[in-house]
Amino acid sequence: MLFALPNGRFFLKCRACGTEFEDSLEAVCPECFGPFKVQFDLEKAKETLSRASLEKRKKNLWQAHELLPVRDLKNAVDLGAGWTPLVRAQRLGKILGLDNLWIKNDSVNPSFSFKDRPVATGVARAIELGKKVVSCASTGNLAASTAAYAAKAGLECVVFVPATIEANKISQALAYGAKVLAVNGNYDVANRLANEAADSFGWAALNVNVRPWYAEGEKTLVFETCQQLDWRAPDAVVFPMGSGGLLCEAHKAFSEFEGTGVLGQGEAGKVKFFGAQGFGAGAIVNAFKQGGKVVPIRNPNTIAKSIAMGAPGDGDAALKIIRDSKGGAEDPTDDEIVGAIGLLARTEGIFTEPAGGAALAALKRLAESGKISRGDETVLFITGNGLKTPELVGSQNLVSIEAKLDCVKAVVEGKKALAPIAAVC
Ligand SMILES: *Cc1c(COP(=O)(O)O)cnc(C)c1O
Ligand SMILES: [Zn+2]
Repeated sequence: MLFALPNGRFFLKCRACGTEFEDSLEAVCPECFGPFKVQFDLEKAKETLSRASLEKRKKNLWQAHELLPVRDLKNAVDLGAGWTPLVRAQRLGKILGLDNLWIKNDSVNPSFSFKDRPVATGVARAIELGKKVVSCASTGNLAASTAAYAAKAGLECVVFVPATIEANKISQALAYGAKVLAVNGNYDVANRLANEAADSFGWAALNVNVRPWYAEGEKTLVFETCQQLDWRAPDAVVFPMGSGGLLCEAHKAFSEFEGTGVLGQGEAGKVKFFGAQGFGAGAIVNAFKQGGKVVPIRNPNTIAKSIAMGAPGDGDAALKIIRDSKGGAEDPTDDEIVGAIGLLARTEGIFTEPAGGAALAALKRLAESGKISRGDETVLFITGNGLKTPELVGSQNLVSIEAKLDCVKAVVEGKKALAPIAAVC
């Protein structure tokens, strides 16, 4: 059943049994416990959505609202997320042997990760469905973003995080006024508890019962990228993967843009999808390399904590997209990830957290092995900000000195430039 709406038509559809629902905050299909997906009536969307109409609108996250799940744009809480820079990465590209490399720098969103996109649509739906408390389980970035949006919307917020996550990520959620529950256990343990709590207390849990609505916001990353590329789809895209959800939504975004005529025929189908996880937390990558389905990892262990999920919820769906598109997947080590953070910062002036480092380290492997070739127009998605994990920056270039010109001279002359203060001056 479809509904006449001011801003497009959408409904929930069970991916297993196909039953359709208008509005629901159930975590799974009540008929068969299958997962939900949001579907848009693309014919209806086409009536108002086009390159020309998009170009006339404000450049914000709600620009292509025909393809976003909000019944009334008044409920679109706006922190100013989205429309982040797409920059040409010539210096980095040269080092990697890629002539056509772009970086979508999503580390500069209001809460400093791409999570502001899904949280924007998730919170809008939570409001429309009458919820007063929003919650989530998070490896840090989702917690910060949920807390920020809850603050702006005047909702209460409870976040569950593994007690081992980085201190800055906890500080951020605390600052926005969320109740932060640091759970003794890894992400998967915190997630199970968050599930139970949302069920018992009737909360809107962003990554559980709001998840289908939440996920749709991730598409905006690709919508913008296509527009920034003058309405082309790139040849290759590289995403960090936690649950694999972002990569799946990116795929949905290309096909919806093609399905509404915003992208030309065949554009969506030409994109090769590449995914990155940290070594030790690479359930999806392992399945890609070994064949077969995703097998959960009991104790995921990588420096890229924001994408460290042992049981990636959208893992098999992401895997299928990667395989079908003739893409690939890599799981760089901690050392490669830290090296990539430095490389990106030094060559392109972009400071990312380990999830972005993992994506770049994966791209480096893919370029070296020829899976992404020199001429491929490639977009690297940098999804989180380096100020979230400042402890990972090396201090080799730090020299402490007395406030004397002689000391500067000693450093400039390079005699003992990298020695500690006592030895330099
Ligand atoms: C959540 C997150 C991802 C991955 O998202 P999934 O949808 O879980 O695959 C990537 N990068 C950063 C920085 C994130 O916070
Ligand atoms: Zn069903």
